[in-house]
Amino acid sequence: MAVRLGVIAIIVAAILVPSYAVDFDFFYLTRQWAGGVCKHSHKQLDTEENRRTCTRYPDDDIFTIHGLWPNREDGTWPSYCDDSAKFDGDLGKDLLEELSSEWPSYYGSNYGFWKHEWEKHGTCAGPLIADERDYFDKTLELKEKYDLMDALTAAGITPSTEEIYSRQGFEDAIKAATGAKPVLLCSGKNPATLTEIWMCFSKDLKPINCTAGTSSRCRDLRFLPISRTHSTTYS
Ligand code: 5GP
Repeated sequence: MAVRLGVIAIIVAAILVPSYAVDFDFFYLTRQWAGGVCKHSHKQLDTEENRRTCTRYPDDDIFTIHGLWPNREDGTWPSYCDDSAKFDGDLGKDLLEELSSEWPSYYGSNYGFWKHEWEKHGTCAGPLIADERDYFDKTLELKEKYDLMDALTAAGITPSTEEIYSRQGFEDAIKAATGAKPVLLCSGKNPATLTEIWMCFSKDLKPINCTAGTSSRCRDLRFLPISRTHSTTYS
């Protein structure tokens, strides 16, 4: 009898838990900085091999969203967790407008970028994230709540072609404003160029210190202004 009840309980649990409820420990909210990701009009600063030729830039000086990613402490992460949850993009005019300014692709189709982020990462974020709309809503809410530009400006860290900042300065500024240590991503040799900032969140979306990622490439770093020029200006 006890065995039969146990089997029934397992079957009921399997039906109730969404198929995309997978194993992960925390979220990364990853944000990109066009001044570091894109090629620069100051050619002498364009020494890094992996700068992109960008065709779209944020209107304002903001860190735009790259994605919200479920992750594990061991450095692995789940991906493409629900084949049936295809991106349909039916998000309404207001949300699409907000995504266009806060979550643009710098060098491809916006729809393609959003589709990729939802299908690769968002489908693994259940049951906290209920569906596609919820994925974009919750990610935008987090972005709104934790403004990286405000945090950096408050600490006197502003985009510059001259200044070299320390990793510690960035980490302290973000920790002071959000309560948690981020991961910094940079490209190029020291002094490297800041490309992304990742914040870590618990599964109930509270900021936590990032312990798994490494900011080791970013010892001294440039925080370059966004150079809103298209690839055609490059010879
Ligand atoms: P992920 O880093 O989420 O695993 O992959 C990002 C994917 O989106 C890549 O295939 C990349 O080419 C594409 N993509 C399109 N636009 C952008 C962009 O502005 N930034 C980044 N990081 N990836 C983009």
